[in-house]
Amino acid sequence: MSSEIAANLEAVRRNIRAACERSGRDPADVTLIAVSKTKPAAAIEEALEAGAADFGENYVQELTAKIPYFEERGASVRWHMIGHLQKNKVKYLAGRTALIHSVDSVALAEQIEKEAAKKETETDILLEVNVAGEESKWGFTAADVSGAAAEIRALPHVHVLGLMTSAPYTEDPETNRAHFRALSRLAREMADAGLIEPPRDGFRTPVLSMGMSGDYTVAVEEGATIVRVGTSIFGHRDYSDKER
Ligand SMILES: *Cc1c(COP(=O)(O)O)cnc(C)c1O
Repeated sequence: MSSEIAANLEAVRRNIRAACERSGRDPADVTLIAVSKTKPAAAIEEALEAGAADFGENYVQELTAKIPYFEERGASVRWHMIGHLQKNKVKYLAGRTALIHSVDSVALAEQIEKEAAKKETETDILLEVNVAGEESKWGFTAADVSGAAAEIRALPHVHVLGLMTSAPYTEDPETNRAHFRALSRLAREMADAGLIEPPRDGFRTPVLSMGMSGDYTVAVEEGATIVRVGTSIFGHRDYSDKER
């Protein structure tokens, strides 16, 4: 059965391959995360059947409701927490995510450390950077993130694998190219300074999680190792029946 989701996934993969070709990169170095927030399990199943393995969610409650559904069916899904995370919700995630992308404070990393230690697990994270200094967005400033990484490095159950950003919403992805390039450079500098861990758990480091439906091809050209694509795979989201 060929579904619209499968066709969309194939189109996104094709665009990623083309962006890699333009920039002399190996497509194997770019992981596509299908962002499934607000979408039902059936949509995730369709994407799984079409070969998707990594899924991104923004809300702890929705994520922890979806995880057991797929565990019970023996489906292997790598879950990525990409939305803003409150400290009091960390306990629900410990040991259940492949990667938490949205760590935006040292205090949050310390809470992840505490819960990971309690569950005798280790947690891979990215540090979120607010590349354009937008008021509406979470994240460290580019100036602060290295200092934060130096503090977080002391936490034995938390591993900083790289950086994540959500660039400004745009109709023209070229307007975000400079942001992506700057984050790429920052991640390399931090890796050289020992502030980002060597490869682990199948992730090449430094991980650079950047690029969404509107701008992922430019992000790939500028070095993204993870792109987070929702709308271009699953269609537009309907928030009308949700309380956020
Ligand atoms: C929703 C979301 C995405 C996906 O956005 P699309 O524009 O639908 O591709 C990616 N990253 C984060 C952090 C998100 O919240």
